[in-house]
Amino acid sequence: MRLADVHLHLPEYQDPSSVIDNAKDRGMLLVSCAVNLAQTDLNLRLRAENPGVLRCFSGVHPSDASKEGPVLDRERFLELVRASDGVGEIGLDPKYSELGEGSMQRRWFLMQLEAAEKTGKPVQVHSRGSERQCLDILGTFRLRAVLMHWFEGQEDGTTGEVVSRGYFVSFGPALLYSKRLRTLARVISEDRELTESDGPVSFKALGGAGGPDTVASVAFGLAELWGHGFSDMARRLDENLSAFLGP
Ligand SMILES: [Zn+2]
Repeated sequence: MRLADVHLHLPEYQDPSSVIDNAKDRGMLLVSCAVNLAQTDLNLRLRAENPGVLRCFSGVHPSDASKEGPVLDRERFLELVRASDGVGEIGLDPKYSELGEGSMQRRWFLMQLEAAEKTGKPVQVHSRGSERQCLDILGTFRLRAVLMHWFEGQEDGTTGEVVSRGYFVSFGPALLYSKRLRTLARVISEDRELTESDGPVSFKALGGAGGPDTVASVAFGLAELWGHGFSDMARRLDENLSAFLGP
């Protein structure tokens, strides 16, 4: 039985090695996402130094799409994706810049999904405030596995679509205090749920706790919701993780 943090950002920690060592001691698996191309390189290096503990996803986040500039070097990106375990964190978010046709966010999102389709790698999607647009675009690609990271569910039919398409949803520490997320966790099928921390994000409502150490509590929260024992839930989550990451 192995607990996993399926979505954190090791390049954003002051000392990623201490986070990795701690996970190693606990027998955890970490999946580190990038938000830009420089972070992708660092993730690949950390994975090479820590085989077995770390997987890495490569991608340009909505926050960095316009900073990466208009040159979309498809070939270079494909190489990066082939060397990685998946594509992420990618998506759309109106908080950072505009999302219209031809916008940098949209161009990056499309190009990265194309790379995921071509390579058969799983994808981690950020869809805050743009759930509808993200699902419309995702529906035009043939993707092996999709994870809607920190998805909160909306009353606009998108939750039902996430379920019917068999997308994975990852729950983080907010599950422990958010009624909305606990309701959502009962709607998403049990075999599509994963645990994440989005570290180094910390949670005021949890006294500033954050990072991979919180994953055990999230798994416990899911176990309670589903009426399982902790180890049974952890085993299911581990199976879900293998299904998401693939061979
Ligand atoms: Zn993130």
